[in-house]
Amino acid sequence: MKHYQVKRSILIKLLRSVFVVYFTGVVLLTALYVVQVYQHTKNDISSELKVIADTFKLDLKRALNTPDNQRLSEISNKILALPVVVSVLIVDANGNSLFSQGKDVGSSDTRLFSRELVITRQFAGNSIQLATVRLYSDSGVVSNRIKFGFALIFLLGVIKTFLLVASLIWAVKKLFIKPLNKLAKDIELINLDNLSKSRINLYVEDDNELKAVEAISNQMLRKLDLAKEEWLQIENNYQRILEKEVSERTHELELSNKQLNTLAATDPLTHIRNRRSFFDIAEKYFSIAVRTKEHLTVMMIDIDYFKSVNDKYGHAVGDEVLKEFASVTKRQLRDSDLFARYGGEEFVIVLPNTGIEGAEKLAEKIRHTIAGHYLVTEKGEIQITISIGVSALDEYDSSLDDILSRADKALYLAKENGRNRIEKMAA
Ligand code: GH3
Ligand code: MG
Ligand code: MG
Repeated sequence: MKHYQVKRSILIKLLRSVFVVYFTGVVLLTALYVVQVYQHTKNDISSELKVIADTFKLDLKRALNTPDNQRLSEISNKILALPVVVSVLIVDANGNSLFSQGKDVGSSDTRLFSRELVITRQFAGNSIQLATVRLYSDSGVVSNRIKFGFALIFLLGVIKTFLLVASLIWAVKKLFIKPLNKLAKDIELINLDNLSKSRINLYVEDDNELKAVEAISNQMLRKLDLAKEEWLQIENNYQRILEKEVSERTHELELSNKQLNTLAATDPLTHIRNRRSFFDIAEKYFSIAVRTKEHLTVMMIDIDYFKSVNDKYGHAVGDEVLKEFASVTKRQLRDSDLFARYGGEEFVIVLPNTGIEGAEKLAEKIRHTIAGHYLVTEKGEIQITISIGVSALDEYDSSLDDILSRADKALYLAKENGRNRIEKMAA
C-alpha cells in the first residue's frame, strides 16, 4: 500500500493565517505608532519654534524698530539655517507682509507647523504692535525625524513576524505534523493477520490530545482483534457444521448409491447376483486368472423337471423353490465364489483359484445337499434335484464364453445321462 501523500499541509494553512493576521496587526500598530509619534514630534517642533522665536526676539525687535531690512534678512537667514524652520514671515500690524523668506509661506502644509511671535514697542506708556513674526516648519521636518524610528519599528515588526512564523513551523511540526504523520504510517502498517501485535505509537510524552488519540487508536485495534477472533470462531464453527453436513450427505449419497448398485446387480427373487452383474464380475475373474495363470472353474446348474414343480404346485411355489435353492446353495460357497442366477431355473457358479477336482467336489456337495433338502409348503413337502455341468479354464481359452459353453455342454450331458448328476467337459 502506498503511503498517503499530503497535498496541502495543515501547517501551510495555519502559518498563512497566522502570518496574515499577525503581519496586518504589525502594520496597523506601526501606523498607529507613527501617527502618535508624528503628533508628538509636531508638538516638539512647535515648542522648538517658540524657543527659536524667543531667542531671536530681541534681535528682531531691534531690526524692526529701525527698521533695518538688511538686518532682518540676516536674522532670517540665521533662523532658516536651523533645520526645524523652513520659512520666515513678518507682517505689520495691518497684516501686510513686510518680509518673507523660505519655502512656500502660507501653504497648507507649513501652516500646520507655525509659531507666531508678536513684537511690540513701548511708546508713551502704551504698547504698540510693530509686527508679527511667524516661523514655519513643515511635515517634511517631522517625517525626517521619525523616519528612522519608523523604519526600525517596522523592521522589528517584520523580524518578529518571521520569528513567530519560524517558531510556529518548528512547534507545529514537532507537536502535530510529526505525530500525525507517525499515526498515518502506523495505521498503514497495521497487519490485519496479526492485529494483536499491531500498535500505534506517536512518541508523545505529555498526556495531551495526541496521547488520547494514541490510546483510543490502540483500544480500537484491540476491539478489532477481538471482533476478528470472534468472527473467526463463528466462521470455524460454521465451517465445521458445513463439513459435517457435507460428509453426512456424502455418506448418505454413497449409501444410496451402493444400495442402487446392489439393487441393479441383484436378482429380485433369489437375492443373489443377476445375469448382467455375473458377467461384469466373471469377466474380471477370467482376466485375472489368465494373467496370473491360476485355476478358474465354472459350474452351470439347472433344476431338474422344474416345469413340473410349477405345474404341480403353482408358479408361486416354484418361486419359493428357486429362493430356497439359492439360499441353501449360497451357504455352501465361499465369499470369493461368484454365484448368480443365469436365467429361469438355471444358475452359475464361478470358483476362482479352484481346480476341476475341487469344483467337482463342491458340485457333488451341492447336488447332495439339494437332493436331501425338503421344502415344506402348504401343499406338502417338495424335494428337487439338480444337474451340474463343470468346466475349467484352459490355456487355449480366449474368452469367458469358452468355459461357459463347455459348462453348458457338460450340463446338457448331465441331463442326457439321467439328471441329478454332475458332468465335466474338458477343452
Ligand atoms: P429339465 O431342465 O430337467 O430338462 O426340465 P425343466 O422342466 O426344468 O426344463 P424347462 O426348461 O423345459 O423348464 C423350465 C421351466 O422353469 C419353465 C419355466 O416356466 C420355469 N421357470 C423359469 N423361470 C421361472 C421363475 O422365475 N419362476 C417359476 N416359478 N418358474 C420359472
Ligand atoms: Mg432349464
Ligand atoms: Mg430344468
